[in-house]
Amino acid sequence: MNIHEYQAKSVLAKYGVAVPRGKVADTPAEAEDIAKEFGTPVVVKAQIHAGGRGKGGGVKLAKTHDEAREYAKQIIGMNLVTHQTGPQGKKVKRVLVEQASAIKRELYLGMVIDRAVSRVVMMASTEGGMEIETVAARTPEKILKEHFDPAVGLMPYQARKLAFGLNIPPELTGKTVKFMMGLYNAFVDTDCSLAEINPLVITEGGDIIALDAKMNFDGNGLFRHKDIQGMRDFDEEDPTETEASKYDITYISLDGNIGCMVNGAGLAMAAMDMIKMSGGSPANFLDVGGGASTEQVTNAFRLILSDPKVKAILVNIFGGIMRCDVIAEGVVLAVRTLGLKVPLVVRLEGTNVEKGREILAASKLNIISASDMKDAAIKVVAAAGQAK
Ligand code: GDP
Ligand code: MN
Repeated sequence: MNIHEYQAKSVLAKYGVAVPRGKVADTPAEAEDIAKEFGTPVVVKAQIHAGGRGKGGGVKLAKTHDEAREYAKQIIGMNLVTHQTGPQGKKVKRVLVEQASAIKRELYLGMVIDRAVSRVVMMASTEGGMEIETVAARTPEKILKEHFDPAVGLMPYQARKLAFGLNIPPELTGKTVKFMMGLYNAFVDTDCSLAEINPLVITEGGDIIALDAKMNFDGNGLFRHKDIQGMRDFDEEDPTETEASKYDITYISLDGNIGCMVNGAGLAMAAMDMIKMSGGSPANFLDVGGGASTEQVTNAFRLILSDPKVKAILVNIFGGIMRCDVIAEGVVLAVRTLGLKVPLVVRLEGTNVEKGREILAASKLNIISASDMKDAAIKVVAAAGQAK
């Protein structure tokens, strides 16, 4: 789960991470009041779940309170397009108004789970403020990394090593280490999957502060953090994914045109690979779960059909706990209830498969049956191709 910058800064502040003084405004008048309270200059920042806001016109420095109101008026309600929002952009509902900082240097500091070594890593770079992906691709040596042992956590000497690598002046090492240890504690304590401070700045006054903050949380740990759960902003999420979570269906939108309904995450991934290898592209990842009911299958179909990109559907079921005849009945019922305007390829295998195939054949519905996964992938890619 993702949260807004102002929320991330409030979480980080609780762990002793230095952040600028700031407040959220829903209206231009509120932005002006905050500017009056703090004194100018202030920064007016669009709050959306995407980065690159500065370049897209979503971050403005206001020298007077009139400017603060004016910029808030421009930003609130705007459709902000950044390299992370996609061409459709995101509508801005509110702004963060912050006391502006006089920046001396912009650095980068981030934490992620490095799956290659099964550890959390803290990364730092002198190349702050820009897209860290570009730095990683072109000049990987400019990204410093400290992995830490989960049993002992990040050690202060590791933070000092990173500070040294960032050429932090010796008199600011203490503040930098405190900042890093605060970020580390926040990350571990709140079950983060990612925390990113870009830029981390050294101010003219010699402070080390988080000018920007991004935090992602592991959904499996959220039940332990009711306060963070409360920060969820459904407006920022894919509506189909939100709908799917209500039915306990794991659904992720993708940009292809083949809708997939599969039981089991591993089989779903394999089905997506097969589609790709056959020259097609999946429109989604969808796992109906191990013991899905007829109702669950209908819900899954509804989700897939709500995506206008879908030109063909692949149902790939291995009946283990689930019986193929139950799935076949579910498919028939779903197609009858919802109607089907795109070709449907079904591959069934496992418990009661013969019975399942009989049900599909007897339904007289226009279902293309496949003998195995490869056959299914080839057939669905061909069907989607013809539909175009
Ligand atoms: P992003 O573009 O979505 O990553 O938003 P950021 O919060 O990183 O802001 C973008 C840029 O705006 C930063 O890299 C800074 O250069 C600039 N900026 C943000 N806050 C301040 C501030 O308080 N003072 C100054 N001078 N610049 C700021
Ligand atoms: Mn940023």
